Amino acid sequence: MTSNQELFDTASTLMPGGVNSPVRAFGSVGGTPAFMVSAEGPYLTDAEGTEYVDLVGSWGPALLGHKHPAVIAAVHAAVDAGLGFGTSHPSEARLAELVRSRVPGAEMIRMVSTGTEATMTAIRLARGITERNIVVKFAGCYHGHSDGLLAAAGSGVATLGLPGSAGVTQAQASETIVVEYNDRAALEEVFAEHGDSIAAVITEATPANMGVVAPEEGFNALIREITERHGALMIFDEVMTGFRITEAGYWGASGRVEGWEPDLFTFGKVIGGGLPTAALAGRREIMEHLAPTGPVYHAGTLSGNPVAMAAGVATLLNATSQVYTHVDEKAQLVAEALTAALDDAGVDHSVQKVGSLFSVAFGTAATGVHNYAQAQAQEAFRYGPFFHAMLDAGVYLPPSVFEAWFLSSAHDDAAIGRILEALPGAAKAAAQ
Ligand code: PLP
Repeated sequence: MTSNQELFDTASTLMPGGVNSPVRAFGSVGGTPAFMVSAEGPYLTDAEGTEYVDLVGSWGPALLGHKHPAVIAAVHAAVDAGLGFGTSHPSEARLAELVRSRVPGAEMIRMVSTGTEATMTAIRLARGITERNIVVKFAGCYHGHSDGLLAAAGSGVATLGLPGSAGVTQAQASETIVVEYNDRAALEEVFAEHGDSIAAVITEATPANMGVVAPEEGFNALIREITERHGALMIFDEVMTGFRITEAGYWGASGRVEGWEPDLFTFGKVIGGGLPTAALAGRREIMEHLAPTGPVYHAGTLSGNPVAMAAGVATLLNATSQVYTHVDEKAQLVAEALTAALDDAGVDHSVQKVGSLFSVAFGTAATGVHNYAQAQAQEAFRYGPFFHAMLDAGVYLPPSVFEAWFLSSAHDDAAIGRILEALPGAAKAAAQ
């Protein structure tokens, strides 16, 4: 049997940091990454045969757990029909129809391969329609790794403590204005000064890449109102929240509950059921600006790939109200147990939670976390020992304090029991 260490040593000679996505390298928690070789239901198994309860869920897609029978059967059938045709085929429209039927305001959909591509294309579309250049984003929100969106980004950029990324030109950076999340006055000021040049505001529906941060009451509605007032578009990034949290129905955190809709949505993760699919969606008159009906170019060799479409269709068809009720209840249970364990161990913290998405922030009990400055000011050093105590007890958490924890409909009492058992020991480790 090849050990995790041997696999990591080999990978490190072949791939920068031994990984294909930075946070996987365990940089901020230390130690050797576990190399997973299989996944089933709520469990992952590594190369050494150790089984873990999985709280990463492939970073979000695994709403139904791993290897859900209906998803696997649909993927097998699609594979048997051919891996891809490079042409139109029936299941693209099937997935698009499922999205449209669940998301008010998503009249037309364009499938892409990653969340990065979805947000990048949404920005290009907004610039093409408005003929303006500036994009406003919020500090700590992560929208993938396209150049202009890396400024003060969350996720791996936050984990590595980077202000942005080398290789982003001054020109690109100067077309992105970064505003502190939940700061209404700052948003108003930016629009007062640059309103005529702003193509779009992009925001995570509920930020979950600086840890989970709830939008304060009316904040998303303010973004809607101010963009409309100034002729800019509102891009609601639901790559993480889409078809996972149920604030407004089974599609995600859309503003419909408050009586408004964004101009553009981006989806990813759950919509691809574990295969590389993401999407942008919006009203017909906006989406028809995309090629071939409009002048804004987007294309993709693997866009709408039939195997990925099959995984997405099967996932959304099985994402029933029972699934969401289960995931919400289990998230509540684990979040409460997390708080109790940390309280018992005397660890100052806040559990940041919106729907079934949650994360922990250390040393933040007095204020909670409402923006990136507070997320960054936390006692992040406590997460490494906490993470490793959970790992040693057979629970796989995201290897960064800035990432959300994901549950699935496959997390049954046995899996949840293992998480609850592991928490007190991990809380003690965090206390040191
Ligand atoms: N937008 C949000 C909110 C995300 O959380 C992510 C990834 O985590 C992305 C966009 C980028 O998606 P991808 O990693 O598929 O490019």
